[in-house]
Amino acid sequence: MNSSTAQKLDIQKVKTSRVTEVDFNNLTFGSTFSDHMFECDYKDGGWQKPTIKPYGPLTISPAAKVFHYGQAVFEGMKAYKDDHGKVWLFRPEENFKRINKSSVRMAIPEFPKEIFLEALTTLVKLDKEWVKPGLGNSLYIRPFVMATQVGVGASPSTEYKFMILMSPAQAYYTGDVKVVIADHYSRSANGGVGAAKAAGNYGAQFFPTNLAREKGFQQVIWTDASNHEYLEEAGTMNVFFRVNNSLLTAPISDRILDGVTRKSVIALAKKDNITVEERPVLVSEIIEAAKNGTLKEIFGAGTAAVISPVSAFSYKEDTYELNKQEDGFATRFKKELMEIQHNLSEDPFGWRLEVV
Ligand SMILES: *Cc1c(COP(=O)(O)O)cnc(C)c1O
Repeated sequence: MNSSTAQKLDIQKVKTSRVTEVDFNNLTFGSTFSDHMFECDYKDGGWQKPTIKPYGPLTISPAAKVFHYGQAVFEGMKAYKDDHGKVWLFRPEENFKRINKSSVRMAIPEFPKEIFLEALTTLVKLDKEWVKPGLGNSLYIRPFVMATQVGVGASPSTEYKFMILMSPAQAYYTGDVKVVIADHYSRSANGGVGAAKAAGNYGAQFFPTNLAREKGFQQVIWTDASNHEYLEEAGTMNVFFRVNNSLLTAPISDRILDGVTRKSVIALAKKDNITVEERPVLVSEIIEAAKNGTLKEIFGAGTAAVISPVSAFSYKEDTYELNKQEDGFATRFKKELMEIQHNLSEDPFGWRLEVV
């Protein structure tokens, strides 16, 4: 590691907080940002002075490589406040490991762990009034890295900016999600960037998702790029299928994002002796299960919505409805996860980290 990374975190606080101006009962997800942000530049082969400063605009050259070649990765995680006013993070080391894994795939230099964790906990402490108690309320945290070197030469940037923003979020009800099983477009391919949280992965999903919306569906279930035979992810979430009382989900590969919610659901299910099959899931077997009544549930798993139940799916010309399961796995895992995150239940796996 470059010696410059040993620099101390510089903190510039806001003069007056904006927290009193915010209507915490009317938040649009990801559109209001807390008082402070974290910023650290990479140049001359090393990460420079890490800084926390008031949230605000940046000045970046329009020739910065991120705008031309999309060399950028990000993370999504949350802080939660319990009923005693303590603030917790959920498995933050997983997000740290993953942003560096994403960076490696995008030829971005890795970020030092100590600075990441110090930046995160310092930011959350400074802006703890932005985390509201109550099940479902949280402070969404968005770390990201972008290529800032000036120049449109098609080569990896020599300069980067690592940042962390924080945005208060309310319980996120997705309602009934109807999905289309992709039979033409793909999210990721073998050897591609699907396992990285690369910014461009999201941009590439918008068009096929719009086509699904036009047909009255909200999301796309992505299938393998080769033959569209296997079910892989739902929108920007991992996806689970409950057939009878077993849970099926695609195995981690270079086409699948290794979700923290996914692996937490698997751990909770196994603890409760629910059979979990991490294996390729055929479109045909799920259609068969829908027809013979053994398909009980489909749900997405991701940090933003935690668990998002699917009410119907379409494949080519046909639509299949799923019966609502009031006491289903989706409801149960959502409750169990949220209670651990909000310090309302035991934490048998040691997933919570107390920040303040
Ligand atoms: C972020 C993401 C997920 C969910 O990951 P979590 O760690 O559970 O939030 C799933 N799939 C894709 C494609 C993602 O980008």
